[in-house]
Amino acid sequence: MSASTGHGSQTVESARRALAARLKAAGGDAAELDARLLVGAALGLDLTGLITAAKRALTSDESDRLERLAVRRLAGEPVARILGVKEFWGLPLQLSAATLVPRPDTETVVERALELLRADGTAGRALRIADLGTGSGAILLALLSELPNAHGFATDISAEALQTASRNAAELGLADRATWIKCDYGSGLTGAFDLIVSNPPYIPSADIAGLDIEVREHDPRAALDGGADGLDAYRPLISQSAGLLVSNGLLVVEVGQGQSGDVEALMTASGLSPTGPPRADLGGVPRAISARRLPR
Ligand code: GLN
Repeated sequence: MSASTGHGSQTVESARRALAARLKAAGGDAAELDARLLVGAALGLDLTGLITAAKRALTSDESDRLERLAVRRLAGEPVARILGVKEFWGLPLQLSAATLVPRPDTETVVERALELLRADGTAGRALRIADLGTGSGAILLALLSELPNAHGFATDISAEALQTASRNAAELGLADRATWIKCDYGSGLTGAFDLIVSNPPYIPSADIAGLDIEVREHDPRAALDGGADGLDAYRPLISQSAGLLVSNGLLVVEVGQGQSGDVEALMTASGLSPTGPPRADLGGVPRAISARRLPR
């Protein structure tokens, strides 16, 4: 145990600073924020509470608790996993071992979907939305929070993920507008959908070992692994979506770096028509691809 945080006489503020310095020295790019969140979690304080309590001394129990969290972070576990919660689209979402940590990049999918519905003038309607491979429920719950008359149908092959997602829906007051179905992508769905969204696994299998430790050791492999070319999930999910969408219905999916052309080609081959160029994420990477079901 290091003297920098394993010491009962430290104040909240000095413990926070010492931890930030350790995380920074270990190469953490969000060391300051991570230290605040971890000290807060160890002490049961929110960010305001941390300021109010800045000068008080840590008890030795608190120091021990903080040190255990620090060791986990220094070993590469993401803060979101340690806290068990991550904010997405301004909504606090609980995580489990079966769910990906929602990424800010994925908000691009929500933005594109909302932009298209608003342009169509349909955002206020009683839309039927499907989220294929919902994980924590991030995309669907963000959409339901913006579309007051929509109903969502979320699928996942993991019962644990569906439990996490439905708990999130309940916490957010969205449970009565969401239905959970255990199946592979769209295979268990029937009926017509106005909008289908998905952030499927898309990392080529051989690339997983080269990802950051936060991802390769802590995100569920089933949520990452897109098979040999990274596109294994898109093949069934796009052809299923083509059959599940209403005429003019929309499909919006997240893609990995360099995959937009291939995914658009799969959409076109299934009778879907791409709606404009991919939408880029904050890092400038084309991230959300959308297409419309041509009228039959
Ligand atoms: N966006 C995640 C990453 O790059 C991968 C998630 C996915 O495969 N859908 O780490």
